[in-house]
Amino acid sequence: MKMHCKACGKKYYVTENSYNGYPYGSGYWSNDIDGYVRASVPAHQRVFHSRNCWEYWTAKNIDAYTLWLHSMGNDDNNVQPTNRDNSINETIEERNNYG
Ligand SMILES: [Zn+2]
Repeated sequence: MKMHCKACGKKYYVTENSYNGYPYGSGYWSNDIDGYVRASVPAHQRVFHSRNCWEYWTAKNIDAYTLWLHSMGNDDNNVQPTNRDNSINETIEERNNYG
């Protein structure tokens, strides 16, 4: 499927089985369920051609982005984590630095 990046306009191609396009999706290990929690994004919704464009667009629209996040209620993880969860969060952040 041909896409045009929402940030830079560059043309790129995505398929359900390719790793092209962002956000692609990710996940984390949950001790609560003793399993991996995953969220994946369908190809047609990977609207940025690169991770850099995704972050650029988010930074440029940060007011609307945070307003939208806050409108979703208090179901976020923006609280001081326990020591156990903190080690998990560091692992996720390290993972998110790729790309
Ligand atoms: Zn782009």
